[in-house]
Amino acid sequence: MAPVTIKGLRKRFGSFEVVKGIDIDIADGQFVVLVGPSGCGKSTLLRMLAGLENISDGEIRIGSKVVNDLAPKDRDIAMVFQNYALYPHMKVADNMGFSLKLKKMPQSEIGPRVDRAADVLGLRQLLDRYPRQLSGGQRQRVAMGRAIVRAPQVFLFDEPLSNLDAKLRVAMRAEIKALHQKLKTTTVYVTHDQIEAMTMADKIVVMRDGIVEQIGTPLELYDRPANLFVAGFIGSPAMNQIEGTVRGGMFEAADGIRLPLSGIPANADGRPAIYGARPEHFMLSDKGLPAEVTVVEPTGSETHVMANLGTTPVVCVFRERISAAPGDTIRIVPTPEVAHLFDAGSGRAIR
Ligand code: ATP
Repeated sequence: MAPVTIKGLRKRFGSFEVVKGIDIDIADGQFVVLVGPSGCGKSTLLRMLAGLENISDGEIRIGSKVVNDLAPKDRDIAMVFQNYALYPHMKVADNMGFSLKLKKMPQSEIGPRVDRAADVLGLRQLLDRYPRQLSGGQRQRVAMGRAIVRAPQVFLFDEPLSNLDAKLRVAMRAEIKALHQKLKTTTVYVTHDQIEAMTMADKIVVMRDGIVEQIGTPLELYDRPANLFVAGFIGSPAMNQIEGTVRGGMFEAADGIRLPLSGIPANADGRPAIYGARPEHFMLSDKGLPAEVTVVEPTGSETHVMANLGTTPVVCVFRERISAAPGDTIRIVPTPEVAHLFDAGSGRAIR
């Protein structure tokens, strides 16, 4: 196990800079998820950690060692890819032990290591099969097994679940997390799926356009997003964002609707701003603001309601079952204590 330190990291492809000076501290044993929209540079960053891509500028340390110029095989890392990259002509056991064989480890040592990893991942019954005889989830487990047998200092995952169907993805997510709790190996995991990030990470790094927008625990990012981008990216359904101005202790939307706020800094008054309310932070209330319902989605455990609050479409998530139908008017009010406020110009959080 080892901490990983990334300092001033940059990557240019020709004159095109895709990683623009990134600093991340990853503690020993931590599970860090890099998340961001397609093209933000997260895979490039992971590939630089793995040594599969040269560094244009900056420094990567694994443990106390600067690894900038080390070949991938000398970095003591193991990477799990999206497409598993299993050898089709090798049985599961040979796939898992192959990297150890390359290292010239004696078969008498490889066998027990493969068996131990197979036990951890529930692959014992499958060791004699070929990859084509496995399901997608089983192949993914073999790919992880191949990483585990090496007992590396760091695991790197590049969107390992994106080829699996939704149900299997949820199951594998829990498996990877349980595995991390067992092995406690420092892990860097790339995904574009914010739910994967929220459910798996000790620490999330939100990236956009080659820079870091915010680093924090899942709940820090959810409760205190530093800017509109993070506010919109983390959370599903996404945070409602309403344009307007702060006036006299209230938020006045562009269409004149007034929303409650608390703890507004003095300098916010009169400033163009964006009001942010999570879908679950709207309450039904007789004294609430009228909103015309457009869509009702009962999920069983909660009800998702889309409605027009004045001219702004909002999404509300209610814990209770409500009988509203499209065209009905409901009365809703956001909880002021948990409402967010962002500067309209910079997008930065004001409160
Ligand atoms: P995705 O989720 O779609 O995989 P990503 O966030 O992982 O996206 P990267 O794969 O890191 O993004 O790519 C970042 C940017 O770098 C993209 O604009 C991509 O086109 C560009 N890029 C990646 N590899 C190369 C390359 N070898 N040469 C030139 N440009 C590249």
